[in-house]
Amino acid sequence: ELNTPELYAAMDEFARITRSDLNLYNVHGELIRSTKPELFDQFLVGKRMNNRAFRQIVKERQLRFVDMENIAGIRFYDIYEPVFNGDGTMVAIASVPHFIRSRDVADATASTISAVINIYLLLLIAAIALGAIISNSISRPLVEIRDRIGSLALTGNRRIRYRNTKDELGVLISSYNKMVEDLEESTRQLAQNEREQAWKEMARQIAHEIKNPLTPMKLSIQYLMKMKEAGVPGWEEKLESVSKSLLEQIDTLSQTATEFSSFARFFSEEITRVDLDELIAEQKEFFDNREDVQIEYCREGVGEAAVDARRSQLGRVFVNLITNAIQAIDSAGQAGGRVRISLSSAQEGKAWQIDVEDNGPGVSEEDLSKLFKPNFTTKKTGTGLGLAICRSIIEQSQGTIAYSRSGLGGARFTIVLPAAYSRA
Ligand code: ADP
Repeated sequence: ELNTPELYAAMDEFARITRSDLNLYNVHGELIRSTKPELFDQFLVGKRMNNRAFRQIVKERQLRFVDMENIAGIRFYDIYEPVFNGDGTMVAIASVPHFIRSRDVADATASTISAVINIYLLLLIAAIALGAIISNSISRPLVEIRDRIGSLALTGNRRIRYRNTKDELGVLISSYNKMVEDLEESTRQLAQNEREQAWKEMARQIAHEIKNPLTPMKLSIQYLMKMKEAGVPGWEEKLESVSKSLLEQIDTLSQTATEFSSFARFFSEEITRVDLDELIAEQKEFFDNREDVQIEYCREGVGEAAVDARRSQLGRVFVNLITNAIQAIDSAGQAGGRVRISLSSAQEGKAWQIDVEDNGPGVSEEDLSKLFKPNFTTKKTGTGLGLAICRSIIEQSQGTIAYSRSGLGGARFTIVLPAAYSRA
């Protein structure tokens, strides 16, 4: 039975649940009922069933037919199916028009857009994170380079270590390291030039020193000869006193020449491994020949103390310092003179320290600033070259020499020399 309220209710229920319309036609193709009767009432759609569908379902006995239809320019699919009763007789034809609603399309578009935005957001976050990691890995070495350049000194700069020497940063870091090396080399050369310049200046002064007494010496001899030729009485006594002063002058000249010749040899001697302990022991032995001056050597548990230096030059330093100490003691006319040489480890084993002390008068305050200057001397026959040469020799071996007051009462000269590499 088709025209019953139950069927109509069932149709409405179907339409509600599926959110679509349902039309029911009888087997002659006439509309029985629609869940959207307005379409038919307003004559938008005819009450007769689509001809093609009627033919396919009723005549051809097809169990389903789908057609593309059109209402006022809106296209939709209409799905037709036969309705059978319990005996298997076709009693009606049902049709479900299926609109592709533009809202669906809009929804689909909107969800596609939001999915795309989501993907872009994810990509953006990933890109930012990756960017942060990369920029961090680039900026860290840059910050290090900036800090190193900021604290660049003339010497003692550390090199920057970097794994990949082929990339741009690697090239930059290699350039920095090269610059540090160049800087240290130029600093070294500058210091060397300065030293050589100072020595040249000194050589000029020494030439002057040597020439100065030569003229009076010559004049004295000529004067003596004249006195003798003329038979001037008392020339013998004059000869004695002039000879004495001449000998003194000659001694001074020879001393100056000796000091200076050591400078000439200075740059030609080879640098070798020198054991300070052995060298100092030798010097002590050499000077330990006086009853009134006691020479001690303390080495505070030090065995071999190796440095890289010019051996005979280093020996000269000790000869100079010990000679000065003994002369200072003698000049004070002091009894019970003491000279103490000590060898100890310094700078956590990276260097050796040698102290030469005496119980003489020491150096006066006003002489301190001139102490290591060439030509400074307080001795009658001194040249003032000893300490200047000492300092030059020690600096050539990258060491230092300094003066301080000794606990013994007199002078203390402290030398610090870098230990040879195997120990450092
Ligand atoms: P010189 O021995 O020819 O005078 P140096 O350069 O060796 O030249 O010494 C310079 C001066 O330093 C000396 O004349 C002396 O006044 C002072 N001096 C050096 N060593 C000592 C010392 N151990 N005690 C006191 N004065 C010293």
